[in-house]
Amino acid sequence: MSDRPEYELPAPARVAAGKALARALCAECFGRLFGRWGHGWTNPERAERIAAALGVPVPASPTCEICAGAFDRLDVWVERVVRAGTGFEWHRFTCGSRWEPEQLAREESIWVEIGTEWGESLRTAFNRELGKRVELRTGAAGGPDHPDLVFLADVAVGRVEATVLPVYFRGRYRKLDRTLPQTRWPCRRCRGRGCATCGGTGKTYSESVEEVVAGPFLEATQGEGTRFHGMGREDIDARMLGRGRPFVLEILRPRRRTVDLAGIAGALAATAAGRVEVGDLATTDAEEVVRVKEAAPEKSYRVGVLGDAEVAKVNEALDLATARAIAQRTPTRVAHRRADRVRTRRIVAARLVEASAGRFTLDLRTEAGTYVKEWVEGDGGRTEPSLAALVGVPLKVDYLDVMEIHDTEVG
Ligand SMILES: [Zn+2]
Ligand SMILES: [Zn+2]
Repeated sequence: MSDRPEYELPAPARVAAGKALARALCAECFGRLFGRWGHGWTNPERAERIAAALGVPVPASPTCEICAGAFDRLDVWVERVVRAGTGFEWHRFTCGSRWEPEQLAREESIWVEIGTEWGESLRTAFNRELGKRVELRTGAAGGPDHPDLVFLADVAVGRVEATVLPVYFRGRYRKLDRTLPQTRWPCRRCRGRGCATCGGTGKTYSESVEEVVAGPFLEATQGEGTRFHGMGREDIDARMLGRGRPFVLEILRPRRRTVDLAGIAGALAATAAGRVEVGDLATTDAEEVVRVKEAAPEKSYRVGVLGDAEVAKVNEALDLATARAIAQRTPTRVAHRRADRVRTRRIVAARLVEASAGRFTLDLRTEAGTYVKEWVEGDGGRTEPSLAALVGVPLKVDYLDVMEIHDTEVG
């Protein structure tokens, strides 16, 4: 500190400082009246320099009329923060504080009364000083970015509340079971409370990809709940094959954040075998949720179709189908939860894989958001043109598998 230049106040600030000496203030609050004058000083250091320049003792009122002694009790607040965070694993944190509005207003009126234009707010300084001390005490990193815990010091009440932010994991899942929805479906009748229809489970389906995948993560993190974000979703009765579908699993209020991903992958391989396979597991953050939800990759499907169509006619129809766009009105089966509108989509590629009496198999690659079942069957004329219309006979989808999500191209 000795190699720093003298702290020199401009003349109007010296006048303001002189007036401020008449108030009962602590060193922090006195120095902070000039907090935006000169960099590299803490407010108590400023107070010391200003007092020296004016030839007076450093103000040190224990009943400071701005902070009421809050800065003198920072160590108590640090312990409250540590207590609020006990039981949770945290490496990054943010500190905030709640004050009586009158107390914040009182500070601003003192700025006006003494005539300083360099005042820094009580709340900003308190949050910063508390954060610095918590860093020293715990070794965790304070700051606004990606906190694990957010602490809110309620200064009037004398209590710290901790908000635990979710932890995020990403991966890809393959679904081999045609009875498994992607996410938990609350029972429509009781909306999740449990009733006779759902056997008290509150669910329409007994299990989901979300629940299967979340199981070992919840155990490892001791979290209180999950949110599952898939890059789109397949129908319940469709398998999800190939490299699998990208997803982000969000664990709410986790107690542990560092988990053994290899161990979790092993647990999943043992418990979900034959139904769900998970790979490429990694830790991620909230931005990945946005990326996964906003992605609109092309998808490849294998579709088993029932119908008496000639091979030549099917091949001709597939050529026509890939040559121009199709118009799809929101399918009847999802009309209850999606707005009714017409979307233009493309069948990027289509190939007849095999055909036998009364049935054939197709490989398709489509634009994101194409309703494949409706394109094959026609959905009562809501998809134009449909494969059924082009072939000229009624067609029905027997099964459908997603073979690849082309979010990143593979070799
Ligand atoms: Zn004070
Ligand atoms: Zn129910």
